[in-house]
Amino acid sequence: MKKNFKIVPVFIPMLGCKFKCVFCNQHIITGHKDAAFKQIESQIEQGMAHISKDKPCDEIAFFGGSFTCLPVAFQKQVLDLAKPYIDKGLAKGIRISTRPDYIDTASLELLEDANVTTIELGIQSTNERVLFHSGRGHTVSCIFDSARLIKDKAFKLGLQMMVGLPKDTREIAIKTASDIISLEPNYVRIYPTLVLKGSSLEEMLKTDDYKAMSLEEAIDQVCHLKIMFDYNGIKVIRTGLQSNEDLDLGRGLAEGPYHPAFGELVESQILYKWFKYAIDQLIGKARAKIEINVNPKDLSKAIGQRRANLSRLRLKYPASQITIGANDSIEKEEILMIVGHEQLKITKLEFYENYLKASG
Ligand code: SF4
Repeated sequence: MKKNFKIVPVFIPMLGCKFKCVFCNQHIITGHKDAAFKQIESQIEQGMAHISKDKPCDEIAFFGGSFTCLPVAFQKQVLDLAKPYIDKGLAKGIRISTRPDYIDTASLELLEDANVTTIELGIQSTNERVLFHSGRGHTVSCIFDSARLIKDKAFKLGLQMMVGLPKDTREIAIKTASDIISLEPNYVRIYPTLVLKGSSLEEMLKTDDYKAMSLEEAIDQVCHLKIMFDYNGIKVIRTGLQSNEDLDLGRGLAEGPYHPAFGELVESQILYKWFKYAIDQLIGKARAKIEINVNPKDLSKAIGQRRANLSRLRLKYPASQITIGANDSIEKEEILMIVGHEQLKITKLEFYENYLKASG
């Protein structure tokens, strides 16, 4: 996905869902189609009001519902709302998100005819047990089949995975990421499982059938997966749920690794591991003073929230005086270590290669 990809997001109100994914509290909500249609129409009008022909948006993106689970007539009605903007050259395409078991040749033909360019699948895991205990209602082979159908039709493919679902482990999450890499999607989203109030997971928590991940565990696991995807050239466009008032104030959350800046914490963790790798390369050299230089855009993530990275590094290497600073001449894909008169550049690629080799 290219830089500055511009989308106009449109949220499809829940119209009821017949599935019972344990992490979701949406299946108890039902809505009215006419009211939902009006909401969608006004969101598109508002979102497109500032778009001009010389700066068209890349996609009108329908989020928040399993699009192809909606009645076919309603899908057509909604897609028709986007058509005039595409015809006028104000939008280049449409994005929808859906479940793997609601993809078949007929549904793809409908989407193709309506100028849909990207299909995002919520796959969550490629482990049969995890899917079963999460109440997903489809198999692993269904994920592979639908992803391949989408790619064969030349749509762009986005895949969403979750970590910390019932029966999930770090090894299973890594296998899921490897499976995703083999499907060559255009982008990925990674979500840690949260226990939402009103979800079945909340009940499972009460009966000790489920244990939520800690924030540290979730950050570390997602950090590892993000390195796998980055290394394989697959863009991770989001890690962690978008913050909202219900989550920020804890109203909608029973338990789980929520943080409003989860994605930034993951980026900080990657930089921390990168710095550790770089410092370990200096073993045997005089290293009383170690100056780490990063691209100015990375400085706050490099230091970490509440200076967490700097504190951890100073704790781990008590014999060294470590500082982290910004340097305009440093690319985003590298860091520069200055130790006395010696300078050492470590690229992200070198760190990734060594990190993945060391972690097997
Ligand atoms: S996550 Fe599962 S239960 Fe929730 S809306 Fe999607 S398909 Fe339905």
